[in-house]
Amino acid sequence: MLWDQHACAELVETADLSELHRYRAAGGGLVSLNVGYAPHGPEVTASLLRAFRAQVERIEGLALAASVDDVDRIAAAGDTAVVFDLEDAAPLGGDLDAVAGLVAHGVRTLGPVYNHANAAGGGCLDAVDPGLTRWGRDLVAELNRRGMVPDGSHVGARTTFDMCTVSTRPVVFSHSNMRAVWDHPRNITDDQARAVADTGGVVGVTGVGIFLGPNTPTLEAMVRHLDHAVGVVGIEHVGVSTDFSFDWATFRDVLSTSPELYDASYTAWGPVEWMPPETFVGLGAALAGRGWTDDHIAAVLGGNFRRVALESWEAPE
Ligand SMILES: [Zn+2]
Repeated sequence: MLWDQHACAELVETADLSELHRYRAAGGGLVSLNVGYAPHGPEVTASLLRAFRAQVERIEGLALAASVDDVDRIAAAGDTAVVFDLEDAAPLGGDLDAVAGLVAHGVRTLGPVYNHANAAGGGCLDAVDPGLTRWGRDLVAELNRRGMVPDGSHVGARTTFDMCTVSTRPVVFSHSNMRAVWDHPRNITDDQARAVADTGGVVGVTGVGIFLGPNTPTLEAMVRHLDHAVGVVGIEHVGVSTDFSFDWATFRDVLSTSPELYDASYTAWGPVEWMPPETFVGLGAALAGRGWTDDHIAAVLGGNFRRVALESWEAPE
């Protein structure tokens, strides 16, 4: 099972989700599709969720998953299970009660902060990170209570350590590479990786060129980050995600029209390049070619994020 813990369609109701068929060469699996980030409020996210869910129900080969049993059944049939994620607390509109409703609509992962500080804590592009706020602590507790996985990607380092300290369930980095391999502010330190591993969580090594190296979205670069991550936290705590933008042209437009959202580390190597699903589905073969065992490949391609889901999605007793 190939489990892509974070991918992005264009955030408009008319985005064509049949693009998710580009993963099918891998056989069955799961894609967590983004449905909102810092610029979005509750109404926009609710509208996107309605539209995306309706499309997934309509498109053959895609299916909504509400449980790990659903994921297993969908993937075993060779289809793609779809769940959703959020980057930033803005789509909650300040209302912790919104978490339960989002879970009911398939949102299973939430990063509290997108690059810059908000009511929950500090962002990874901020000069100073004040740490998780009181409201941010309440947010992590509500995520734990409702079965949504707290995500440290885009979050400031100090805030990610705080998230790991207060969370009673696994914390993940859904799409973050290793700073020891390539020094980028979106990448994480070995200590951050160890902190999520200590919660039972997983680091999702991702396929964005500027996070892998000097804008090099290759399988070789991805394997370098995976090898390093496995050396730091062990094979049970490493996974993968493409962070592929199916609307990559739109994202490049956002980079040029909303420079306040990003910094020079996003633009220094020219237009951002992503690893397309057609390349990503070859990752298992690339790892086998490097001598990885079948067990290790299965853990990193999906088994580890599946375990986090098993330990997180059910509401506690
Ligand atoms: Zn992201």
